[in-house]
Amino acid sequence: SLTAGIVGLPNVGKSTLFNAITNSQVEAANYPFATIEPNVGVVEVPDHRIDRLVELFHPKKTIYTTFEFTDIAGLVKGASKGEGLGNQFLSNIRLTDAICHVVRCFDDANITHVENSIDPVRDVEIINLELVMADLQTVENRISKVERKAITTKTKDALEEMDLLNRLKAVLEQGQPARSVEVDDEQAAFLKTYNLLSTKPVIYVANMDEEGIVDPETNPYYQALKAYAQKDNAQIVPLCAKIEEDLSSLSAEEKDEFLNDLGLPHSGLDALIQKAYAVLDLQTFLTAGEDECRAWTFKKGMKAPECAGIIHTDFQRGFIRAEVYSFDDIDQLETEAAIREAGRLRLEGKDYVMQDGDVVHFRFNV
Ligand code: GDP
Repeated sequence: SLTAGIVGLPNVGKSTLFNAITNSQVEAANYPFATIEPNVGVVEVPDHRIDRLVELFHPKKTIYTTFEFTDIAGLVKGASKGEGLGNQFLSNIRLTDAICHVVRCFDDANITHVENSIDPVRDVEIINLELVMADLQTVENRISKVERKAITTKTKDALEEMDLLNRLKAVLEQGQPARSVEVDDEQAAFLKTYNLLSTKPVIYVANMDEEGIVDPETNPYYQALKAYAQKDNAQIVPLCAKIEEDLSSLSAEEKDEFLNDLGLPHSGLDALIQKAYAVLDLQTFLTAGEDECRAWTFKKGMKAPECAGIIHTDFQRGFIRAEVYSFDDIDQLETEAAIREAGRLRLEGKDYVMQDGDVVHFRFNV
């Protein structure tokens, strides 16, 4: 499964946020497939569509889909120079699919800042520069392997790759992330094999204080970070890690009440989970019945047989067809019988590209 790594400078609220995540962690009994390690938090992806299906089907079992966060401790300035801990930090990021970068946007004289002042843009640039420097090394190493081949053999492949590598090098040398380099399909395939850190999608988590979170737009630290994120092709989520930590130990009803009291429309952690899911191009299909209502994660663009395979490999092998209707239809019409009558049930074959919010029954040979 895909995972987002939580990074940030010391004392910005990473542990507080990670506590909120582990407190909200799914129960292993319901999710036996989730590998739960100490630095990993597996959370349910909140989904109002599942809540509605439960109202309509009264299933014995309800299962949300899950998403995984990894706590990546210990960034120090100079990590890319390869000193002990720093190396470990970078190789841990390499294993993640997206980066949640926690940034301090709160004042608190009692909590020291490693750089002695609050400046979100400077802070993110410290870490981003380490990632870019590490990528520059990767690119330079690759250049030294491909260059000779490109010169001596002049094969199309080698020349194409050298063009990409040179453009990456130029961008990284400017301190810009590799994701700002435009690539065609062929070059995208090369790029993927380098697994560069600065190509991973980034979500900045603006950690604000309890007072400011009600109206993030009035917080100048948040505004500065938001402008930076837009320029950098990154996402941003405002939250207050402390509030999320408090929320995470409450029941669902208590949680709603507490949010209400604070004047917050939803939990910031829930917003972060949904955003992390979206930046990874993940979508959800649903299965519904009296036994179970369940959300399943698939990668955008997957076809029906592959999605069937997410449930069970036998479903993919013996795939016949998918019987599909959209969540919006069941939301309005309320029963599968009404959906059939209205002609809203679709029979889809093996080339059908699944859509977010499809409710599906797979038919297969055993
Ligand atoms: P880490 O070093 O990045 O893991 O940071 P911690 O989570 O340990 O937080 C550092 C300090 O900041 C702790 O004293 C936290 O209680 C405090 N802190 C974290 N989040 C918030 C917040 O949202 N508001 C305020 N006021 N303090 C926070």
